Amino acid sequence: MREPANGDISSLKKAITQALPTAKRVHAPTYAKDIVGDIRQWDERDILFARVDLFQYFGPDSPEYRAYYQAHPEHLEYDTKISNAFGLGKTGGVDTPMFAAQFEAITKIASEPYVDGEPAPHKTEVPPERAAEKVKALARFLGADLVGIGPLRQEWVYSHVGRSFGNREGFQRWGTPVDLRHHTNAIALGFQMDYDLIQRAPDFPVLLATAKGYATGAWVSIQLAEYIRMLGYSARAHHLYNYRVLVVPVAVDCGLGELSRAGYLITKEFGLGLRLAVVTTDMPLAHDEPVDIGAQSFCEACKVCAENCPIGAIPMGDKVEFNGVKKWKLDEQKCYRYWHAVGTDCALCMVTCPWTKPRNWFHRLMSLLATIKGPHQSLMTQADKLFYGKFEGAPRPDFMEPSGQ
Ligand code: SF4
Ligand code: SF4
Repeated sequence: MREPANGDISSLKKAITQALPTAKRVHAPTYAKDIVGDIRQWDERDILFARVDLFQYFGPDSPEYRAYYQAHPEHLEYDTKISNAFGLGKTGGVDTPMFAAQFEAITKIASEPYVDGEPAPHKTEVPPERAAEKVKALARFLGADLVGIGPLRQEWVYSHVGRSFGNREGFQRWGTPVDLRHHTNAIALGFQMDYDLIQRAPDFPVLLATAKGYATGAWVSIQLAEYIRMLGYSARAHHLYNYRVLVVPVAVDCGLGELSRAGYLITKEFGLGLRLAVVTTDMPLAHDEPVDIGAQSFCEACKVCAENCPIGAIPMGDKVEFNGVKKWKLDEQKCYRYWHAVGTDCALCMVTCPWTKPRNWFHRLMSLLATIKGPHQSLMTQADKLFYGKFEGAPRPDFMEPSGQ
């Protein structure tokens, strides 16, 4: 009997992969059936990072600080403690400027002249299907790993600006009302986290992987928005340090993935291991439908992220109502406390999720099987635990040791 040639094996792999269903496209995102009340627009001033900015950039004597904590005394104690704790990347024993340099560069290209601008005076007419094709191809060419287009729901637009680096020049002032009603479409961009670096969770390399994901997202989104403005349409990039939208639900609406138990986006391609950026626009673009990758039933049974969270920030129990939607609600305050304890953004939930795996043939096949709802989803979680065992973070690469050593 002849040995199978490489060509035969690849054909077999291709045939099996093609025989399995791809993520199901659906008319409504999977969170739609969990909407149980009105969804109000979120005020960016209320997010944890904006509150920490009040300490870091404004200070207790500023009118912004006083106004915020007069209206929200319930946050003062936690915010004071967390703002006095160690900052990210500052635990010692690592080359902190490596991480700081990435975030500084992202900040520079987050100001208004980079993310927004006037469209060209003449509109180039492009049929929406062709325009969507071109925008997606350009986004991939520039470096996006995933791209999808959908409607921009105004519920996902912040009501007021919360992050301005202390009203730094080039940024809109803290508390400025946001108006994005003229933008009807959103382009969601996904960037895979460096798989090798996140294996070192919760150590310093995770921070570098996070920063790299955000930096790529920033760079791609500002170029894409600029391209659309050159075609004569209004377009704005939303990336780290200058968002006007909640990127996770926008990405769900654009068909990138679903909401997970871990509280953020899960995708068939990269599990929890990606970062997001968005471009919003008034350019007519054909939409992608949302996806049902089977994550709701998978996460219902799985709970691996919750079991591996060292501080219990991810719920083991059922979804609860939050701002009109039933969801697994991450406790951001607990999570952020742990980040400061370890000096990184942790990522233990991300790296232990059975969906966050390298993109080899076997895992692509497994991710396709995982999208089919059924009792095998729970078995797959058990198999993942047996095969991978308890997660042990790998040592950090030596190029991250402090300079001069
Ligand atoms: S990042 Fe770490 S602390 Fe935060 S939810 Fe995930 S596992 Fe928990
Ligand atoms: S670890 Fe399990 S429960 Fe958590 S997000 Fe991944 S699939 Fe869902």
